[in-house]
Amino acid sequence: METINTTLLIIGGGPGGYVAGIRAGQLGVPTVLVEGASPGGTCLNIGCIPSKALIHAADEFCKARSYAAETSPLGITSSAPRIELDRTVAWKDGIVKKLTGGVGALLKKNGVKLVNGWATVLDGKTVEVRPEGSSEATVRIRCEHMLLASGSEAVELPFMPFGGRVVSSTEALSPGEIPQRLVVVGAGYIGLELGTAYRKLGSLVTVVEAADRILPAYDADLVKPVAASLARLGVELRLATSVLGMDEEGQRVRVRDASGVESLLEADRVLVAVGRKPRTTGWGLENLMLDMEGRAVKVDDQCRTSMRNVWAIGDLTGEPMLAHRAMAQGEMVAEIVSGKRRHFAPAAIPAVCYTDPEIVVAGMSPADADKAGIEIVTANFPFSANGRAMTIESTDGFVRVVARKSDHRIIGWQAVGGAVSELAAGFTQSIELGAQLEDIAGTIHAHPTLGEAVQEAALRALGHALHI
Ligand code: FAD
Ligand code: NAD
Repeated sequence: METINTTLLIIGGGPGGYVAGIRAGQLGVPTVLVEGASPGGTCLNIGCIPSKALIHAADEFCKARSYAAETSPLGITSSAPRIELDRTVAWKDGIVKKLTGGVGALLKKNGVKLVNGWATVLDGKTVEVRPEGSSEATVRIRCEHMLLASGSEAVELPFMPFGGRVVSSTEALSPGEIPQRLVVVGAGYIGLELGTAYRKLGSLVTVVEAADRILPAYDADLVKPVAASLARLGVELRLATSVLGMDEEGQRVRVRDASGVESLLEADRVLVAVGRKPRTTGWGLENLMLDMEGRAVKVDDQCRTSMRNVWAIGDLTGEPMLAHRAMAQGEMVAEIVSGKRRHFAPAAIPAVCYTDPEIVVAGMSPADADKAGIEIVTANFPFSANGRAMTIESTDGFVRVVARKSDHRIIGWQAVGGAVSELAAGFTQSIELGAQLEDIAGTIHAHPTLGEAVQEAALRALGHALHI
């Protein structure tokens, strides 16, 4: 068996692990990264990137169909569009390949040794690696620092396991055909992002959600334009409804509503999207007997675990399970290992939901501030009063700002509307830089842009919005 000695060993090449690798390499820390599947992890291979590609393709197809149906107010008409799904999937796979290849090249350029295979932890300083498909380890790696970045996996419903018609987001991102009837279980991020895309690609979609509203993690006002759009698209929502499993023929989904009435939903495919869980089993993690927090590995504000020189980042450490959080943690751990002083204390971690319309949040909502006992000023500015929103046919939605009453320091932003994901940068920068309402109100925002609604929200919170 080959033996490798290194300073930093990273297990998992997702956004957390690969960013840690690149930064450690830049800082001259001898680094080995072990990845069992493909560099880029969930995010690049079966998550963020392929899902956004499929959503874009579905949007384009839906738009083309509206031209063919002569329902577009723009006066554009066309003949009925067709979609060659294998070409759509190949285009999406091409983006994934380009990005994952890029990650491999960046690791190499920065001197990080990439070992392909599955790591099993023996102790806090040693792992063995077996190649995919083999039960024999071929490499032993010893390290001074071990960084755990094994990510997460889809939660399976025990009474409706994955297989056959029942799929996770991974299979849903590479469809061989568009199912006539799709049942989606879970109206969270994945259920609504992919459920909407499938509806736009032509499926009849029913979404079953245990809570009494969609996207229960977001505040009700933000979600309203999304619910209205789902209704326009013809997505059926079954809220406050429990899934009981498939029927005996394995063709229909058994559900029970809040009043106890059971019914069957016809389904050619069932997408189960009821959350993800940290990947903590099957690779020897238990040998370390680390302190846990629920299902996640417990870490402090430097991503240290309860064992000296063993670190953990990303989805393995629990919520929020977002790629940009994993990356920020990875970069920080690499810097600490190289000798720099760092802490993970972001003023805000933005989150975007790529529904139609999109939702973006950063920092505190009015309800969060209330819970924290902070007195606030808050204001909304609707996109119905924004010229740019009208020109891109996307006037449903608004921007909301939340600021401390005492000094007008901005502590939160929320927006819902077409293309608002791109407001995430400005929102988060203003919170991180400690901006006050007056700073945003006094900044010239280009016209015509959606960003003017951001300035107007700040102006409105100060009592003198101009365009409403
Ligand atoms: P992962 O990306 O899960 O990477 C972990 C890696 O470790 C994997 O490549 C795995 O093969 C490897 N690994 C695990 N165990 C071992 C082992 N023993 N040996 C070797 N290798 C191992 N987040 C966003 O911020 N924005 C989005 O738009 C978004 N969209 C998403 C859409 C979908 C459909 C899904 C499923 C997720 C989405 N996410 C999104 C979440 C995002 O993908 C994750 O938060 C992110 O990938 C977590 O990064 P990570 O590095 O912690 O883990
Ligand atoms: P989620 O937590 O966003 O949503 C799960 C939904 O399923 C919730 O609304 C929950 O109430 C519901 N649910 C749970 N059990 C149920 C049951 N038995 N029957 C019916 N409904 C049930 O989880 P997800 O959509 O699977 O996504 C997983 C994670 O992936 C997210 O939390 C997020 O961290 C990440 N993600 C992020 C993005 C993004 O940033 N745009 C996109 C996709 C995924």
